[in-house]
Amino acid sequence: MFVVHDTPTYIGRFAPSPTGPLHLGSLYTALASFLDAKAQQGKWLLRIDDLDTPRNATGSVDSILKTLEAFALHWDNHVYFQSDYLDTYNTILASLQRDNTIYPCTCSRKTLAASLTEIASAEGVYPNTCRNNKFPCHQPHALRVRTDDRMISFDDRLQGLINHHLARQHGDFILKRKDHIIAYQFAVVIDDDRQGVNHVVRGMDLLDSTPKQIYLQQLLGFSTPDYLHVPIIADNLGFKLSKQTHAQAVGLTSPVHVIFKLLNLLKQHPPLELQHASATELVNWAIAHWNPATLKNIRTIPLEI
Ligand code: GLU
Ligand code: ZN
Repeated sequence: MFVVHDTPTYIGRFAPSPTGPLHLGSLYTALASFLDAKAQQGKWLLRIDDLDTPRNATGSVDSILKTLEAFALHWDNHVYFQSDYLDTYNTILASLQRDNTIYPCTCSRKTLAASLTEIASAEGVYPNTCRNNKFPCHQPHALRVRTDDRMISFDDRLQGLINHHLARQHGDFILKRKDHIIAYQFAVVIDDDRQGVNHVVRGMDLLDSTPKQIYLQQLLGFSTPDYLHVPIIADNLGFKLSKQTHAQAVGLTSPVHVIFKLLNLLKQHPPLELQHASATELVNWAIAHWNPATLKNIRTIPLEI
């Protein structure tokens, strides 16, 4: 008799919001999560985070899929859309409501801003104004989750040990907005669990959201994935490349040139001869040589290198 210890398959994902075409910063994260998954013979899922409907831009899903294909970043399984799972989120909210874990918050932006200044809460933590509100609530309201005094700790593969005091640093946060939109923090936890995601590789801009997500995993009895937060690409002025800073869409005319640049920004330094390889060859080289440790403790990478 012998016992086989199966290591569970690595399941990673890329979860862009369809707010526009991919720019260099988003493709950077996509490439990092793809390489990390493939270097460990894992699956790489593609999920479209399309719940924030006012921000969705027509045509961006198609453009995202085309871009990933042009860059030889082939996803496993079918594409997931969060909007297909609205019933799931609402069912889980109903059970949290029965447990008294969430409460209706009727605060307006204005009253909230005023009370935050009053108590001089530097971190913008919710002052618990509505904690004693009961269901049913007939006014327009958001749903907030009750937080407590626990510490949330996790060991990020690049950024090291992170410890947050849940109530003090995050406070009761929103799971469903007043406009009925399911909040990102809540949806992401349910999606990652449903999809069996056990490795999350994403940008540093989401590092501070992670304790909230771990708390929700604890509440819902889900396991916590491994986290790796890669640096953010910053433009010449030091701002994160994003739609807000008018980052340009990545062009599809010379994918190899772009991947080459992205690999350098990931501090992987591909050999110069590969500049003439195909996108697939270059990506295969990168999988075989993937070493994220070169990015340890780095928070931003300037675009010009
Ligand atoms: N959809 C999120 C974004 O575009 C990313 C979600 C995640 O990786 O957790 O910023
Ligand atoms: Zn409130």
